[in-house]
Amino acid sequence: MSIAGKLLLGQDQVQGQGSSFQAINPATHTETGPVYGSATQADVNKACTLASEAFGSYRRTSPEQRAHFLDRLADRIEQLDEELVTVACSETGLPAARIQGEKGRTIGQIRMFAEVVRTGLWQSPTLDSALPDRQPLPRPDLRRSYVPLGPVAVFGASNFPLAFSVAGGDTVSALAAGAPVVVKAHSAHPGTSEIMGRALQQAIKDCNLHPGTFSLLFDKGLEVAEQLVTNPAIKAVGFTGSQAGGEALMRLAAARPEPIPVFAEMGSTNPVYLLPDALNTRASEFAEGYSASLTMGAGQFCTNPGLLIAIDSPQLNSLIDEISQKLDVTESQTMLTPGIYRNYVQKVDKLLSKKDITVHTSCKSAIAANQCHPMLFSVTSELFLNDNSLGEEVFGPSAMVVRCKNLDEMLNLTRNLEGQLTATIHCQPKDHDSAEALLHELELKAGRILFNGFPTGVEVSHAMVHGGPYPAASDSRGTSVGSSAIQRFLRPVCYQNTPETLLPQTIDSKNSLNLRRLQDGRYNDQ
Ligand code: NAP
Repeated sequence: MSIAGKLLLGQDQVQGQGSSFQAINPATHTETGPVYGSATQADVNKACTLASEAFGSYRRTSPEQRAHFLDRLADRIEQLDEELVTVACSETGLPAARIQGEKGRTIGQIRMFAEVVRTGLWQSPTLDSALPDRQPLPRPDLRRSYVPLGPVAVFGASNFPLAFSVAGGDTVSALAAGAPVVVKAHSAHPGTSEIMGRALQQAIKDCNLHPGTFSLLFDKGLEVAEQLVTNPAIKAVGFTGSQAGGEALMRLAAARPEPIPVFAEMGSTNPVYLLPDALNTRASEFAEGYSASLTMGAGQFCTNPGLLIAIDSPQLNSLIDEISQKLDVTESQTMLTPGIYRNYVQKVDKLLSKKDITVHTSCKSAIAANQCHPMLFSVTSELFLNDNSLGEEVFGPSAMVVRCKNLDEMLNLTRNLEGQLTATIHCQPKDHDSAEALLHELELKAGRILFNGFPTGVEVSHAMVHGGPYPAASDSRGTSVGSSAIQRFLRPVCYQNTPETLLPQTIDSKNSLNLRRLQDGRYNDQ
């Protein structure tokens, strides 16, 4: 396969007639790959109409058909050759090993969703038997199952060109739910997007599904996003990226005549708390793990540990010195895009210009295009609370240490934090009372709470929560990673006194899919 710079509208490959753009190789700061023409309003309408047409048949595919399709997609991606790695590396500056690893993760999550669909559990089948003799009124026969919301618009992130992009978690969880998908490719990795999009096209063809089950649009600017989110055929949005981008889509979706949900996973500073006995007993081990987590992938993870919160002490000063020394000898890394690099430099410069902030790392100038250096700052908790800008995410390997006088100050600081994707507590048994008090506060702030670890690296599993209170996510009730991600694109329907022949199989009387179901408040296998 070689990339052609074309939009994918159903099974067609179409030259976009809007303004053109090329990917930029951030390592060389030069254009790379074919020229992409942006989609026009007519292309967006075509993709959405196709998705709407596909919805009728796609949502009625059996769990086995849909699972087979997802397995086929995983096979197609597995078969992709070196071109995927070469193109993704040149568009992102990420090393080949990282892209290969992400390919494996993407395939793994597609196969996990195939299994999820097969189990039928995602439909949480629930049945309440009729009680015809109940007084004063009889109870009808009630059965609840789930239907997909309708076609979903997906916006991928720059930092996971495979796992959070065209065939990533949002797309695959929507497809698993029975929803066709229209993806607006991230402009930083169009070639990677096209390759993954074609794998989706092929899997759809292999499985004889409606061609409109998937389309891929490119855009140099923001028009396509607006046209897509406001198109009446689109019934939900999945987004991973910046707070500004997520909020723009939320506003568009809310202003529609028929508002639709936007499931946006946005930024986070991911506080890491280091409690006193953990600091006393394993400072060096912590310094090692913390600096590795902060600098991994040039710090370009939404789970990057950008805040380190501890009680002030001479041991904390030594720890800060140890971390700074490690950061100072960390090699510079290329950032994903010139825009992300510019933002990083601007945000670091803004911090450097502030009074009363201590800078612990040396400020080196870049030796190659778009390369960043890690930074470490510290402030008092008082100052942090008085200046909201100190709590803003710096996307890259920069961290702020917040020095608290005591546990009360730490708890007060925590109550004033914004919503987070993750929060981490480092503690020893002697710290457990403080950890418990902290945990009670953090449950209200974060989607995932870790102990004695580091937040980068998000397991794709059933219990995972990758989300959190605003502004970490637009809707704190869901997750964009793990099997529960499917729930975002489903809505419950209650079937009352429905004739047996008209019931969905998941809730039919003979339990023909042999599912675990909630029957009159008890599971049928209890
Ligand atoms: P981004 O700039 O928000 O871009 C994501 C997608 O949204 C792109 O397709 C982009 O279009 C589009 N977009 C951005 N602003 C828009 C607007 N105002 N209106 C319409 N569409 C818009 O995100 P990014 O490039 O991945 O930047 C990294 C940021 O994402 C960081 O802040 C990071 O924390 C966050 N992030 C969060 C997660 C998470 O799981 N929560 C994961 C990864 C990254 P273009 O292609 O034209 O730019």
